[in-house]
Amino acid sequence: MKAAVVGAGIAGLVAARQLGLAGWDVVLLEKSAAPRPDGYMMDFFGPGVEAAERIGLYPRLAAVAYHVEAAEYVDKAGRPTSSLDYDRFSRLAGGKVLSLLRPDMECAALAALEDVASGRVRVHYGAPVSQVWSDDDGVRVAVDGSPDVTFAADVLLGADGIHSGVRARVFGPEEEYLRPLGMRAAAFIVTEPILNARFRNRFVLTDSIDRMAGLYGLRSDEVAAFMVYRDATGAPRHLRSGSPRERLRREFAGLGHAVDRLLELCPEHPYDDVVAQIVMPGWQRGRTVLVGDACGAVSLLAGQGGSLAIAGAALLGDVLGPVASPERISPALAEFERRWRPVVEEAQAAGRRTASPFLPANRTQRLLRRWTIRATHLPGIDRLVARQIVGRIAK
Ligand SMILES: Cc1cc2nc3c(=O)[nH]c(=O)nc-3n(C[C@H](O)[C@H](O)[C@H](O)COP(=O)(O)OP(=O)(O)OC[C@H]3O[C@@H](n4cnc5c(N)ncnc54)[C@H](O)[C@@H]3O)c2cc1C
Repeated sequence: MKAAVVGAGIAGLVAARQLGLAGWDVVLLEKSAAPRPDGYMMDFFGPGVEAAERIGLYPRLAAVAYHVEAAEYVDKAGRPTSSLDYDRFSRLAGGKVLSLLRPDMECAALAALEDVASGRVRVHYGAPVSQVWSDDDGVRVAVDGSPDVTFAADVLLGADGIHSGVRARVFGPEEEYLRPLGMRAAAFIVTEPILNARFRNRFVLTDSIDRMAGLYGLRSDEVAAFMVYRDATGAPRHLRSGSPRERLRREFAGLGHAVDRLLELCPEHPYDDVVAQIVMPGWQRGRTVLVGDACGAVSLLAGQGGSLAIAGAALLGDVLGPVASPERISPALAEFERRWRPVVEEAQAAGRRTASPFLPANRTQRLLRRWTIRATHLPGIDRLVARQIVGRIAK
């Protein structure tokens, strides 16, 4: 059996590996010229942890994880206003939370392809898929710039992220499925030894209203920056006009020295996109199925997109892997959606609930967040608070 996978993000890499291990021939097409180096720190907890353990990926992820000691909210002068002890957070989240840089997570999933028999999974970087044909007999995809070269397969996996082109081509335009949550997020990594030493092993977040800047000192002299701000337009990055760097400098002015310094060093084109979820009535059409953010983005507010990308892709591998004839593909894809949709929908609901504590709109909401975080230190209240902060995982 043959699969074509579009997108070598976490979902695409894991799905390709699991199908390869099950004996499928897989072609994995990724538009970036090489593994993407840009990214942000991610909390990895929830269903992806269990799935990563089951498929043997967890040790590779743990090997590149950072040890975060605390997440600390600070005022403009850098004084702490409240802080979350990460060991406690980890306990509330069921004992296992890894802090991973997104590119490290992807590189670990890429390296894990070595577990598959040689030649079973062929990865093509610099291969932006521009056309897709899918019907009841199979699928074909073409890469931009090489219209005469097509890849034929029994099934097509669209693992090409929140702005999925596979989804647009097979299921309909993005506007039908993208649900903006009223915010934008930006992220970039800069070299800054002084801030790096100051913020090693801690997430530092500004305790501000309508916007929040976060930073973390990496292993090298680098600092990972992460910024979220309110934005009612809901426009995806390619539809926003103006320089994202200038916009960030405007939006985040006056939050203190560390943020000013980060903005000085901000690259011209940092990651800067709408915070949104993808909500679709069905994830499968003919021989095409979507996985990861492409069909069920939960947004950074749920803090579980990477975790769900791994768990969803692993489950897809479980149900599709044993399929040995084309007519069994469609029932297997339906089975995947039947089992996975409730988990995604619950995480999406948790993400929407988190919007107000995540980015307070006024002083009262900010005060409430401080109390909520301080309450995690009170015995008995911690699980209740964890439900609010981390959603379903604390069940
Ligand atoms: C700022 C921020 C913070 C986050 N924090 C967390 C967190 O703490 N914890 C967590 O679990 N999740 C977090 N997330 C969410 C998480 O990053 C995503 O949910 C996850 O990376 C989705 O993985 P994916 O493989 O589905 O999609 P993506 O990572 O988007 O991968 C899609 C891939 O497809 C490729 N592609 C796109 N179009 C094409 C094409 N036409 N042809 C070929 N290739 C194509 C892209 O280049 C990309 O490599 C965060 C997200 C953001 C933005």
